[in-house]
Amino acid sequence: MADDVNPFESLQEQVDDAAAYLDIDEGMLTRIKNPERILETNLSVEMDDGDIEVFRAFRSQFNGDRGPYKGGIRYHPQVSRDEVKALSGWMVYKCATVGIPLGGGKGGIIIDPDEYSEAELERITRSFAKELTPLIGEDRDVPAPDVNTGQREMNWIKDTYETLENTTEPGVITGKDLASGGSEGRVEATGRSTVIAAREAFDYLDKDVEGATVAVQGYGNAGWISAKLIEEMGGTVVAVSDSSGGVYSEDGFDAVAAKDHKRETGSVVGFEGADEEVTNDELLQLDVDLLIPAALENAITEEIAEGVQADVISEAANGPITPKGDDVLAEKDVIVVPDILANAGGVTVSYFEWVQNRQRFYWEEERVNDELESIIVEQFWNLVDAYEDHDLPTLRNAAYVVALQRVVQSAEEGGVWP
Ligand code: GLU
Repeated sequence: MADDVNPFESLQEQVDDAAAYLDIDEGMLTRIKNPERILETNLSVEMDDGDIEVFRAFRSQFNGDRGPYKGGIRYHPQVSRDEVKALSGWMVYKCATVGIPLGGGKGGIIIDPDEYSEAELERITRSFAKELTPLIGEDRDVPAPDVNTGQREMNWIKDTYETLENTTEPGVITGKDLASGGSEGRVEATGRSTVIAAREAFDYLDKDVEGATVAVQGYGNAGWISAKLIEEMGGTVVAVSDSSGGVYSEDGFDAVAAKDHKRETGSVVGFEGADEEVTNDELLQLDVDLLIPAALENAITEEIAEGVQADVISEAANGPITPKGDDVLAEKDVIVVPDILANAGGVTVSYFEWVQNRQRFYWEEERVNDELESIIVEQFWNLVDAYEDHDLPTLRNAAYVVALQRVVQSAEEGGVWP
């Protein structure tokens, strides 16, 4: 985290801010602001040199009122119990915002994956999968990729689960490789929704994304695909960064070449296609039309927000703006497309993957992309309606108002038992 804002407190504040516009029973509000249960476990794993190392891991099942718990698994040294709790809550409201029949969960291991061999990572992942096996299942809890995990880890988890359970159940996890039951379009889905949401936000401002200048903070899967797709829409990528720093050219550069450089050297820093180096904080405050934060939580604090010059921010990351940062941006009339809509493409295509897995019938990429686009566009304008009709302060607030109503309705219809 870039500063000491606790992401779980941010989540609860976001829910409270929206609840102020709704008539929600206090007990119900407490229920939907806290996880239903959390697994905390210590994984003992043998390293390549024969030593045993212990890794702390979590899985938070936040809310299952609208369907099976759904959400990724993150490998990062900064993973913590509160971070996982926040991320699992954001999944609840994300799935509700886009209207897919899933609840919210999240998992993580405290680890820097760069420090381990592939064989070690496989044993660590399978060890976590063994712990998760009694808790997950296609109708129970369906994990997916998140920061520093991808198809490889999902394939291992699926295989471990199916082996232990002696079954075939590809829908137990999403984000798999195609041959393991993955979906076309899943890898690109988070970046795709981020840019579709940005395009709609420009449209709302009577502006065009074509010709817009764009800065992207974070160049993992979500960040770099967003950069690539925004270029395809006619935008100009002028700055990108990762945890080591960033690069900038006033006239833009080739976003794919910057990714190739990162693939070869481990970072975008030193990419020769760009003119100068910038820090992450400088990148966030560049004079651009569109800013895409695609790294971790709390990148845009109150202080950074004061210097933001973009007209639109589309949140590819989860929780990249602190609540105080949000207040500053609202005062400056910066349109923020909230994470729970902007990056919801990932979980939406995970939902399509899960549907395909259950039907054992697989879609063409075009169908995946078309259905994703229609959901994001429809729900973006749905948020705009809520924002304008109820005179809400931000689109984030509108998203939570819409999502909270959906979650509360399912919770109330189910009732409390026993
Ligand atoms: N980790 C992604 C997210 O934060 C995707 C989750 C999923 O596909 O279930 O939305």
